Amino acid sequence: MELPFAESYRIKMVENIKKSTREEREQWIKDAHYNLFLLKSDYVFIDLLTDSGTGAMSDKQWSAIMLGDESYAGARSYYNMKNAIKDILGFDYFLPTHQGRAAENVLYSTIIKEGDVLPGNSHFDTTKGHIEFRRATALDCTIDEASDTQLEIPFKGNVDVKKLEKALQDNPKEKIPCVVLTVTNNTAGGQPVSMQNIREVSALCKKYGVLLQMDSARFAENAYFIKTREAEFKNKSIKEIVKEMFSYADIMTMSSKKDAIVNMGGFVAFKSEELWKNCQKFCIMNEGFITYGGMSGRDMNALAVGLDEGTEFDYLETRIKQVEYLGSKLDEYGIPYQRPAGGHAIFVDAKKILTHVPKEEFIAQTLGIELYLEAGIRGVEIGAMLADRDPITRENRFPKLELLRLAIPRRTYTNNHMDVIATALKNVYDRRESITRGYVIIREEPIMRHFTVEMDKAK
Ligand SMILES: *Cc1c(COP(=O)(O)O)cnc(C)c1O
Repeated sequence: MELPFAESYRIKMVENIKKSTREEREQWIKDAHYNLFLLKSDYVFIDLLTDSGTGAMSDKQWSAIMLGDESYAGARSYYNMKNAIKDILGFDYFLPTHQGRAAENVLYSTIIKEGDVLPGNSHFDTTKGHIEFRRATALDCTIDEASDTQLEIPFKGNVDVKKLEKALQDNPKEKIPCVVLTVTNNTAGGQPVSMQNIREVSALCKKYGVLLQMDSARFAENAYFIKTREAEFKNKSIKEIVKEMFSYADIMTMSSKKDAIVNMGGFVAFKSEELWKNCQKFCIMNEGFITYGGMSGRDMNALAVGLDEGTEFDYLETRIKQVEYLGSKLDEYGIPYQRPAGGHAIFVDAKKILTHVPKEEFIAQTLGIELYLEAGIRGVEIGAMLADRDPITRENRFPKLELLRLAIPRRTYTNNHMDVIATALKNVYDRRESITRGYVIIREEPIMRHFTVEMDKAK
């Protein structure tokens, strides 16, 4: 008999979590103005808001924390991080930052000017925020297939090279500071980008003389999908694949809270010494001196170990199989989600479930609140609330997809938790016809409103 699959680690420390009653949750979510971001985490049983910084560090990472060098300049920890970035990712120069968006801030403060265009595949929300805040345009060139949630193709995060080439032809290269390739494509459902696509994008960037930036939060998960779905790479190690992926990039921005499995940290890495030097002043002004940026020495140490562990096949297989397991439970119950299951999350297709809720009343947000009320599970809306208003017309933008993202923290929950999540969602699914109204906005910020928005029930 073939042995069943099991996790490639065992548990050394635990953290207790608390259940609650539906009545309690009704009060709590009302007090939080129906915004899941405004809930106390103590009021959540299974927290799938994000997989960012919420993973469990290993014994080796905790040991590295004890060995952190907190020197202001030239710390050993900085050199540990530098060596890991060189050995695993192949970049000679980098600046540490407190997280991924800070890396974007340092980079974009240097290279973006008003009126610029940054083509890419479904820019992440903070990336888009940093671009639009500087009055530049984040031009989405993702393949059209990405918006059909039921279509099963192996690399749904890919760039449409025709759209990209048109963008590169339509704009002079002085107006394109870089192309932004996000691996995996978070916004499209944690969907991977193939090596073939990376090669094609890189060739176009070279042809038109523009830089290629990889937004790399989940680069290791992307490498796992390349290994398991792209025939040429079947026998390559994750680390070999990662090296090739980054061989095509000029710049990488990294949220280390994802695939480097730390609770806080990030960096921007460069092939060009000149660009690295040009970015230093913004690092010093906004983050910290160039050898610690926004990070403690201990965290740089943990990050260096995390980069190594995060690019091991056994770890990635455990992680991605857990996401697939949750997907297979939803299949059993007929609940639609972005197919195939992504690397870090299941993206439930809220539009196909809550067919009576008008889009103006935030369909995926409504599903997220229902799931919280059902079982104290917290997901996050990827729909009209996140899409925000058009920066020029100030009209609400209604994206093609209304998704509820259930992000799975790394090495944190068991498959029993996955069973609870699937069952809770089934219960909501079974009463979907009775859910006819959503929520309206009471208060919102002019940019990135979803984090702090206050809502009320639609009447
Ligand atoms: C998380 C993320 C970021 C931003 O990183 P933070 O660490 O949250 O600031 C940027 N891009 C992608 C693709 C991400 O997933």
